[in-house]
Amino acid sequence: MSAAAWPPLRDELRGVEPYGAPQLDVPVQLNVNENPYGPSEACVADIAAAAAAAATTLNRYPDREFTALRTELAAYLSRDAGERGIAPAQVWAANGSNEVMLQLLQAFGGPGRTAVSFAPTYSMYPEYARDTSTRWVAGRRADDFALDLDAARDLVKTEQPSVILLPSPNNPTGTALPPEAVGVLCEAAGDEGIVVVDEAYGEFRRGGVPSALELLPSYRNLVVTRTMSKAFAGAGLRLGYLAAAPEICDAIRVVRLPYHLSAVTQAVALAALRHAPELLGKVDDLRRERDALVGWLRAEGYDVADSDANFCLFGRFADRHAVWQGLVDRGVLIRETGPEGWLRVSVGTPDEMAAFRAALSDVNGVRA
Ligand code: PMP
Repeated sequence: MSAAAWPPLRDELRGVEPYGAPQLDVPVQLNVNENPYGPSEACVADIAAAAAAAATTLNRYPDREFTALRTELAAYLSRDAGERGIAPAQVWAANGSNEVMLQLLQAFGGPGRTAVSFAPTYSMYPEYARDTSTRWVAGRRADDFALDLDAARDLVKTEQPSVILLPSPNNPTGTALPPEAVGVLCEAAGDEGIVVVDEAYGEFRRGGVPSALELLPSYRNLVVTRTMSKAFAGAGLRLGYLAAAPEICDAIRVVRLPYHLSAVTQAVALAALRHAPELLGKVDDLRRERDALVGWLRAEGYDVADSDANFCLFGRFADRHAVWQGLVDRGVLIRETGPEGWLRVSVGTPDEMAAFRAALSDVNGVRA
């Protein structure tokens, strides 16, 4: 074997950079769609006490079935799920919704199978497909980043995917799915496919649109994923979860690693759920700040995608990297992602947004 071929990596992984936004030490961090508001002292104290209690049993493996956490997640999800609610057997969780989705691809994708999404979309999806040797097919969104439902249904009929990944709201565009889209695509997928509605940013949607959770009783091939990383202000916790038919949860059990959720993760997630009202308490403020941001960018003459999330995509720049770098030089980190010419900025505190607006105006002044 030649020196260049070492280590003996899978061919499709050669030369591939690990996924991840730059983690730079600048004062204003608006690049990974976190919630800018940390927990209160009382919440920190409760979480610390829960972690301490878990520490007394760290010589033992944790509850492999995370029974208490599944029960509390089911109760929490039931608030958005309509009359039938969600039972613990319908809930699964892992270390971030990234791991939940990888497990879905491990169970339902694989060699000879296809996963479909609609670009531009979350850049991890093709990586889950690659890592599970699942064929990846990306349809296109319309020019305003909405889903063309007829074209989407046709693609599903043609490709017969075993997994369809539908973020709502979408990352990086912020576009939410219309309620009827989920049912149409569940019907098109049939029993050969599962439809994953990724509601990582679901809590930030505008105007009373129901969660896809309400459709679970109607479609047994529907999976709705959520995360504690965004609205719940728990990105560091690493807890993502899903609701689906119990048979789907049982299928994931076959591919999960034993004890994948540590005792500390389970205890801290349970403590955070007890503080749900506080941790979610800034969502309305963030939505208002998001709408103000969209309005300001439009007034400044930028193209801005409609956003139902806690970020927005704006452009268009002949040299977006120069704008991104200009903002970094002024202490503001945003994300260079999405279609060529566009940039994505997360919604932060009012002070952080003021810093962003000042820095962007300054960069533009310099470039004009
Ligand atoms: N889905 C979407 C659309 C996302 O943007 C992200 C994170 N950026 C995730 C899932 C994964 O988040 P986590 O693993 O933190 O739950």
